[in-house]
Amino acid sequence: MKNAFKHISWFFKQEWKLYVLCLILLVFVSVVPLIPAKVLGAAIDSFSTGTLTLNSLLMYVLLLFLCPILTYLVNIFYHYTMIKLGHKLSYQLREKYISHLFDMDSELYEKYTKGDLISRATNDLNSLTTLATTFLENVIFYAVTIITAIVMMIIISPLLTLASVAFMPLVIFFLNKARLEKRKYYKKHHEIYAEMTESVLESIEGVKTVRAYCYEDEDFKKTERAIINDVDSWWKIQKFESAFTPLFELVYALAYFIAIGLGTYLVIHGDISAGSLVSYLVYVGTLYAPLIGLSNVLNIMNNIVIADQRFNEVMNTIPSVKNEEHPKDILKFKEISFNNASFKYPFDDFEVIKNITFSIKSGETIGIVGPTGSGKSTLIRQLLREFNLTSGEIKIDGNDIKEYKIEDIRNLVGYVPQNHILFRRSVDDNILIGKPDANSQALQKAMTMADFKKDLSNLAEGSSTMVAELGESLSGGQKQRLSIARALVKDPEILILDDSLSAVDALTESTIIEQLKEDRKDKTNIIVAHRFSAVKNADKIIVLQDGVITDMGSSKELLKYDNWYKLQYLKQLKGDIYE
Ligand code: ADP
Ligand code: MG
Repeated sequence: MKNAFKHISWFFKQEWKLYVLCLILLVFVSVVPLIPAKVLGAAIDSFSTGTLTLNSLLMYVLLLFLCPILTYLVNIFYHYTMIKLGHKLSYQLREKYISHLFDMDSELYEKYTKGDLISRATNDLNSLTTLATTFLENVIFYAVTIITAIVMMIIISPLLTLASVAFMPLVIFFLNKARLEKRKYYKKHHEIYAEMTESVLESIEGVKTVRAYCYEDEDFKKTERAIINDVDSWWKIQKFESAFTPLFELVYALAYFIAIGLGTYLVIHGDISAGSLVSYLVYVGTLYAPLIGLSNVLNIMNNIVIADQRFNEVMNTIPSVKNEEHPKDILKFKEISFNNASFKYPFDDFEVIKNITFSIKSGETIGIVGPTGSGKSTLIRQLLREFNLTSGEIKIDGNDIKEYKIEDIRNLVGYVPQNHILFRRSVDDNILIGKPDANSQALQKAMTMADFKKDLSNLAEGSSTMVAELGESLSGGQKQRLSIARALVKDPEILILDDSLSAVDALTESTIIEQLKEDRKDKTNIIVAHRFSAVKNADKIIVLQDGVITDMGSSKELLKYDNWYKLQYLKQLKGDIYE
C-alpha cells in the first residue's frame, strides 16, 4: 500500500491545495452530523428537568434543521471536487501510460497481450485512481467520525464506552489477517479479467475470418467461457465478502446490546442522565456505517495493491533498446555493415539469424531471398532498432548502430512490412503517416511511384475515401501499394520492401520496380521478395536459409553454379510456384 501511495505521490504534490481544502471540508462533514445527537440529549434532559424554554426549544429545532442542510451543501461542493480530482488523475495516469507504451521496444509487446495492456489501462488504472479519491475520502471520513463519536461517548461515560466498543480493535485485527488470504483471489481475478478483455478483443478483430469459416459457435463459446470465468471469479470474491458483512453486523449488535443494557443500569443508578444515554445510543448508531465501511476499505486496499502492482509492472519496464546518454545524429550514411550478427527473440530459445556478415553501401539495391521462415524479416528489421542483437554488431559508417539516436535511425528507413497496418483515416492521411508535412506534390509522386494512382478511380471518394479499420475496405494489393506509397512519401535514405509485392500482379510489380530504379537511383533499396523478378537487377542478392547466409552475389554470379537460388530461379522461369 505504501508503494501505491508513493507511485501517485506526485499527484498529491501537484494538487495539494485542493486536497487541503477537501480535508477541511471532509472533517466538517464528518463532525457536523454528530451535533444533532448532542442536541437531542440536551433537549431531552432539559425537558425531563423542566428547564426547557420556548427559546431554547426553538434553538434546538433550528440546530437539528440546519445541521443536515449545511452538511448537504458542503457535501455537494466536496464531492464535485473529489470527482474532478479523480478524473484528472486517471487522465494524467493514462497519458503517462500511453506515452510509456510508445517509448517501449518490441519486447514489451511480445510479453503482454493487447487485452492485458488494455485491462491495465482501464480496470487496474481505475482501481488505482480510487486511492486518491474514494479510498482516502472514506478512510478520513470513517476515522474522523469514529474518533469524534468515541470522544463524545467517553465524555458521557468512559465505563460504558470501554464495555461497548473496546473489543472492536480485535475484530479489525482479525480482518487484517483474513485480508492476506483474500489478496490471492484478487490477483487471480485481475488476470482473469485481462484474459477476458483479450478474448473479446480477438473475437471482434477476427469476426470476418470467424464468419468465413462458420466458426461463430466455437468462437462464441470461447469468449463466453472467458466471460463466465470472470463472473465466477467475481462471485468467489463476493462469497468471501458476504461472510464478512454479517460479522460486522454481529459485532455492532453486540455493541448496541451492551450499550442499552449497561446504559439503562447507569441511568437507573443516576450515573448518567436519560438524555446522555439517548445521545450515547445515537453515537453508537453513527459507528455503524464507518465500521461496515472499514471492512470495505480493507477490501479496496487489496484491490488497489494488486492494481498498483499490475499497472506499475508495465510502467517500470525499462526498454532494452534505448538511446545512449549522448547519442549521435545521423541523416545520411555511407555504409552499413553487419558483423557476425546473431539474434534470438526474447521469449524463444533459439537464434533466428546466425553470424550474419554483409554490407550495404549507400545507393545500392540489395535483394534478400530465401524460404519462408528463414529469417529475412527478422534480419531486415534489425535496422528498425526494435530489439538489440544477441551477439555481433551492426555498424553504420564505422560506429555501432546503438550509438545513434534511435529516432534518427528510424527516420533513415522507410519500412513496408509484410502485414500492412492501415488506420481509420482517409487514404491520403494513411499515406501521410510516412511524412505528415509532405506537400501535395510529394504525395502525388509517392502514389505514382507505388502505382496506386490507378486504384483511386475505384474508390468512392478517390484519395479522400476513408479506409475502414485495419484496411478491411481495400484489397490485398491496394493495401500493399498504399503501404509502399507511405514509405515513399518519406523519401527515405533506405527503403525496405519486406515481401511487399507479394499481392500485386507481375505487371504492377515491374512498374513499381522500374519506378524505384529511376526515382531512387541514389538511395538505398532493400527488397525482400519471393518472386525473383523483383530482385534480379539488384547489386547484391543475399540468400538466407535457416537464418544463415548461404550465398551472396549478383543474379548473374549466382546463376553460374548450382545453388538454391539457381534452382528456384529456373523453377520460376518455368512458372512453377516458389519453393
Ligand atoms: P521470413 O521473413 O524469412 O519468413 P521471419 O524473420 O519472419 O522469416 O521468421 C523467422 C523465424 O523467427 C520463424 O521461425 C518465426 O517463427 C520466428 N519469429 C518471427 N517473429 C517472431 C516473434 N515476434 N517472436 C518469436 N519468434 C518469431
Ligand atoms: Mg518475412
